[in-house]
Amino acid sequence: MSRLKMIVAALLYLSSDKTAVVVQHATFVGALVAPVVVLVAARPSGPALVGSALGVLLLAVATVLVLMSPKEGPSRLMWWVVPTLNIMACGVFRVATAPGGALISSLVLVPALWLVLRFRGRGAGAAVLLVLLTITAPSLVVFETHLSLAGVARYLILPVTMVLLALAVLGILQRQDAAFAQSQESLVRQREAARELARSDDRLRGVLENLNVGVLVMDAQGNDVMTNHTQRELHSLVSPPDNSDPTESGHLVFRLDGSCMPPEERPAARANAGETFDNVMFRAGAPGPEQRVVSCTARFIADQEGSLDSILLMFRDVTIDTNLLRAQQDVIANVSHEMRTPLTSIVGFTDFAADSLEQLEDTQARSDVAEYLTVIRRGAEKLSALVEDLLLQQQAALGKLALNLEPLDLSNLAQECVEGFRPLAQERGITVDLDLNAMPNVPADCQRMIQVLDNLVGNALKYTQRGGRVLVAAETTAQGALLQVSDNGPGMTRDETSRIFTPFYRAVSARRSEKGGAGLGLALTKSIVDAHGGDIRVTSALGGGSTFSVLLPFAIPGKDHESGERTL
Ligand code: ADP
Repeated sequence: MSRLKMIVAALLYLSSDKTAVVVQHATFVGALVAPVVVLVAARPSGPALVGSALGVLLLAVATVLVLMSPKEGPSRLMWWVVPTLNIMACGVFRVATAPGGALISSLVLVPALWLVLRFRGRGAGAAVLLVLLTITAPSLVVFETHLSLAGVARYLILPVTMVLLALAVLGILQRQDAAFAQSQESLVRQREAARELARSDDRLRGVLENLNVGVLVMDAQGNDVMTNHTQRELHSLVSPPDNSDPTESGHLVFRLDGSCMPPEERPAARANAGETFDNVMFRAGAPGPEQRVVSCTARFIADQEGSLDSILLMFRDVTIDTNLLRAQQDVIANVSHEMRTPLTSIVGFTDFAADSLEQLEDTQARSDVAEYLTVIRRGAEKLSALVEDLLLQQQAALGKLALNLEPLDLSNLAQECVEGFRPLAQERGITVDLDLNAMPNVPADCQRMIQVLDNLVGNALKYTQRGGRVLVAAETTAQGALLQVSDNGPGMTRDETSRIFTPFYRAVSARRSEKGGAGLGLALTKSIVDAHGGDIRVTSALGGGSTFSVLLPFAIPGKDHESGERTL
């Protein structure tokens, strides 16, 4: 701090170290002694000189004490003694310089202020008492030979002024103390909040680092702001140190079929382009045993105003799940494939046996065997249908569902399908209504769409109780051809509706009922609709029936011809 700044700080009572006290004391001594010298020089007299000398002596003692005080400022005792000596000096000078020096006593406010600032209420009391004893009382004795009320009032002005001043200063100090205490309290609270924030930040980092899901957070501009251990490991697979092309395009990211995934198709780029998604799959790392199959989910994180703050990408290593699923699907596909030939033989030989029944002479035996053969044939046909569904499901899972696209009138197809189900509906006592509007043709595979309709109408009839109603409707919408199959059957819970398109899933009520099924129909239906670039949804409430809606586009994305082969 420069010397000037130190002096200003001392005069403003901003500091209380030794230098500040020396400056404050020196200015007070200067301000007090200067008028005394002038007044005594103007009217020199014996008592004036003696009084002044006594005053100077008091000031000198005070000055020595100040100068002798340690660097950090006078001791507590000195803070009492020095202002006391200064007040006494004021009193002595007041008497010595009378009558001209009456106002000299007003300088007593300076040491009185020191006492108030230092010792608050006690300092104020002591200052008033000292002024009464060293200035008011001697003045009354010396100057008011005939004690009068006016005289007493005149000499009480100074102590009263001091009391008022002390009260004002004490009030200001009190307010300052309260503000200080408040700021200290909020400082403590802020520190505690900062500590708690740091603690939860550490905890969050700990959780993040130990997650076996890779986490990448990017800011709104697409810069990486946070990654965890799993993510860094995945990244080192994608961009190994010996990679000759460490740019994004050189990263080892592949589609599931093993072809290179172009940069704009990769999850981070898609999320950066404003897309959120679930379970986008890719292969990370060079082909070989180290390569991982990864599933990525992207979400946006909004700030308090609701604008985009950051992008969250979660990468899950699903290599084991995928291998398991593949092994499972291979087993199912192989078994299904192996069952196909014997099943065809069973059906064929059942027909053959039925044709040979004529040779049986015993009519009773003939009718019995004919009945057995019908049961065997029905069972074999059911099994055949299941095997075909399983093989189709396998194709769909591998993205190899072949479609033979042709322009198709969905309303017409729905009508034919419903007519085929009429006898069954009658047998079960269920009314089937139609609300089919004429629609433009959609590019679709006729056999597969028959399968879709059979599944939906078949399910509606299977799960709706006797006396129920089924409605099959078709209409044109802006998005494409909409087909709806509604029933007033048992309906499903929200959890069930979210799972019915998963292969082999059956709702609890369906499993408990006599109604057979493998839980494959809807999964296949969804695969077929997806392969057409369409969408299937269900709205249902427990006890409130179900509505399945299939939407097929009038043109399949990425395909300009209306008909042709398509493998998805
Ligand atoms: P499933 O062979 O069991 O019928 P699906 O895949 O066709 O298999 O259907 C899956 C499950 O969805 C069924 O087991 C049943 O619980 C439920 N479900 C399907 N359609 C309906 C419907 N119309 N009403 C109530 N539940 C249904």
